[in-house]
Amino acid sequence: MSDYFLKNRIKEYDEFIKTALENNYSILPHSEFYKLAKTKQLEGKKIMLIRHDIDSDPHYCMQWLKVEKKYGIRTSYYFRLCTINIEIMQKVHDYGSDCGYHYEEIADFAKKNILKNRIEVEQQMDKIRELFTQNFSDLENKIGFKIKSIASHGDFVNKVLNLNNYVLVNTDLLQKNKIDFECYQSEFVSNYSINVSDCVYPDLYKQRISPIDAIQKELPIIHVLIHPRHWRANWYWNTLENIKRIVEGIRYKSA
Ligand SMILES: [Zn+2]
Repeated sequence: MSDYFLKNRIKEYDEFIKTALENNYSILPHSEFYKLAKTKQLEGKKIMLIRHDIDSDPHYCMQWLKVEKKYGIRTSYYFRLCTINIEIMQKVHDYGSDCGYHYEEIADFAKKNILKNRIEVEQQMDKIRELFTQNFSDLENKIGFKIKSIASHGDFVNKVLNLNNYVLVNTDLLQKNKIDFECYQSEFVSNYSINVSDCVYPDLYKQRISPIDAIQKELPIIHVLIHPRHWRANWYWNTLENIKRIVEGIRYKSA
């Protein structure tokens, strides 16, 4: 029901950013964090990273952006092929936040070709990488700026296959597409003190640990991962995503 009746949580977003700043956290986009991690400059710092995975409802980015502008902070946004919105992506980019690609080519390829086990997918990895490169360059051409980072999306098929989308990423693929990093690289995940992730009402956060709880524990490096669907009810997007999930599930499982 929260897909349809969840009230807008934007005040809560404002509140945790304010709390982080009051507690002397630097809020950085992933690209800046990556530079610090690479040059081993994280020691003794208090940092919060906020990653917005735009799985649906791209217009909600404008509300998040407004709060970020109010506090003069920059964060990171990752868009799927189905949530690309050129105007919004350009606004994120022009403001100086990270704007990247939330890719899912393994899941898409497996669904389209009804591949039901990991080995079948692994055998097609070259083709899947080609598909990624094609999608990536089409996206860059559309939006008109260079995309420097990517983040893996999770689909029900990834769970069935027990194979994450980021398995397709290797150094060669990053270099070929001139991508600086993937958000699940060790420079990120091995440095987080905690990963705070939103989830459905009534818990709102996984393990019920909110960004403010993490700040109060004075954890040095807090990664916050959030998705529009958990921040406001959008009937159009949530219905679309729910139907897509059911149709894809039936097609995949009954084939
Ligand atoms: Zn996602």
